[in-house]
Amino acid sequence: MTTALTCTNIHVDFDGFKAVNGVDLTLDRGEVHFLIGPNGAGKTTLVDAVTGLAKYSGSVVKDGVELRGKKVHHIARRGIGRTFQTATVFEQLTVAQNLDIAAGAGRSPWSLLRRRTVLPDNVVAVLEQIGLAGQAQTPAGILAHGQKQWLEIGMLLVGDADVLLLDEPIAGMGHEERDTTGRLLHEIAETRAVAVVEHDMDFMRAFASRVTVLHAGAVLASGSVDEVSNDPRVQEVYLGA
Ligand code: ADP
Repeated sequence: MTTALTCTNIHVDFDGFKAVNGVDLTLDRGEVHFLIGPNGAGKTTLVDAVTGLAKYSGSVVKDGVELRGKKVHHIARRGIGRTFQTATVFEQLTVAQNLDIAAGAGRSPWSLLRRRTVLPDNVVAVLEQIGLAGQAQTPAGILAHGQKQWLEIGMLLVGDADVLLLDEPIAGMGHEERDTTGRLLHEIAETRAVAVVEHDMDFMRAFASRVTVLHAGAVLASGSVDEVSNDPRVQEVYLGA
């Protein structure tokens, strides 16, 4: 297990309001790391900071390289990939074309729009992994909600992201799809670091290797599922106990 990303003393300030207030966070390859906490705790803002969307003070280092001050596309090229609650796929294009575009730096846009009969090996491998091998030529717009989320994760994989930051990846999914997603995240985390912003406590208990609880912009607790579940400060925040 190696460390992929180290965030140190991250502060994000919106006109004097401290949305993130001195957070330290380490993401290791080999782990599915859940970020939980009540609404407004600062989870999304922290992810925004790491991906270059929110200005912050502190330090974000990936594989020895400081990312603070770098542009969004530069950070993405460094292998940090992100999904949003609502999947952002190209609805008019097929599943394979979506993956092709995500993989296709350096090729002309027109070549990407052709429907290929022979798909590149990396696209085929990801199609298998995300369970969409049978839908390669299906327009992404008609996929089921869960399948769109998997496609979006696949787009990060084919683009060689090795730190994946996923915002509520199971929102709107049924039980079976959730379990499939949890298993997929663990498979991905065998070689990469996966962080999941999540509200669903059952999903967290079933699939978290590690949990960090944010509250009021700060880390309230971090550890295994059992450690954070038994922490009285966490219980107080969640149950008002
Ligand atoms: P979470 O993802 O944990 O629900 P957020 O990171 O979305 O929390 O929000 C943390 C706090 O920062 C909230 O109080 C929210 O209202 C505030 N906030 C988020 N974005 C902005 C912004 N662009 N301007 C001002 N306040 C913001």
